[in-house]
Amino acid sequence: MKIYIDGKYYDERNAKISVFDHGLLYGDGIFEGIRAYNGRVFKLKEHIDRLFYSAKAILLEIPMAHADIMAATVETCRQNRIRDGYIRLVVTRGAGTLGLNPRSCKQPSVIIIAGKIQLYPQELYQQGMDIITVPTTRNLHSALNPAIKSLNYLNNILAKIEANNAGCEEAIMLNAAGFVAECTGDNIFVIKEGHLLTPPLSAGALYGITRRTVMELAAQAGLAVSEPDLTRYDLFNADECFLTGTAAEIMPVVKIDGRTIGAGKPGPVTRNLVTQYHTLTKASGQPIYE
Ligand code: PMP
Repeated sequence: MKIYIDGKYYDERNAKISVFDHGLLYGDGIFEGIRAYNGRVFKLKEHIDRLFYSAKAILLEIPMAHADIMAATVETCRQNRIRDGYIRLVVTRGAGTLGLNPRSCKQPSVIIIAGKIQLYPQELYQQGMDIITVPTTRNLHSALNPAIKSLNYLNNILAKIEANNAGCEEAIMLNAAGFVAECTGDNIFVIKEGHLLTPPLSAGALYGITRRTVMELAAQAGLAVSEPDLTRYDLFNADECFLTGTAAEIMPVVKIDGRTIGAGKPGPVTRNLVTQYHTLTKASGQPIYE
């Protein structure tokens, strides 16, 4: 595997960054997870847009132009002969002193890894997931805005550990007001009487790129799409529920906190959205090889 670091490609064994990088010392940096399907990078522009929005929010000057990051991402896929894969793009604050002041970091680092991902076992996509709500709540906007895809993922990791300890793969995180925010690495949706509902970004959800894509597909299919505040009660009494994410794609949910959702199996609206999503991923995106 060839890994891009600051304009050069390194063999996996030699792809290293400084122990003084504030990405490591303080989680000071940002990232994106991107997919390649069928020789194309899916929603590349949208991911790089979000990377720049995250950078702006944490006052990080990305040392490359938008177009150059897009080109480097595609080139890293080419270098690794990727047709279907998962790309991890990281921008760290760079190496500095042991103090947390980011002004000691002279040059942010850009890292691109193009590999594979299998997040969840295949059978879960057929059977649907059993998930729980966990005690760790989503970060407050006023503390660390969940819209920032930062390297500081401890909030999500703590929730993930709580889910794993209870034998679940994913966790629903509520916000401090008790409304549903999202899951540890996925957005959450419900279907109720022909309406597709997902928490608003103000509830503490990441502006998911799969979330937006699914909302567009649902609207095209004639579903009413809205973003109201949702409580656990709304989830329990939904007809269908599913999660979305670049790595997870669309994952049906059939049980939440011991309550069976709908008929207890992936529902027809979810299955239809999965089919449409797969059709879209196969045929659109930035070509890697031409
Ligand atoms: N929420 C969180 C906390 C995430 O980390 C992610 C990405 N894994 C998502 C939602 C889904 O976002 P996207 O569809 O852009 O991958």
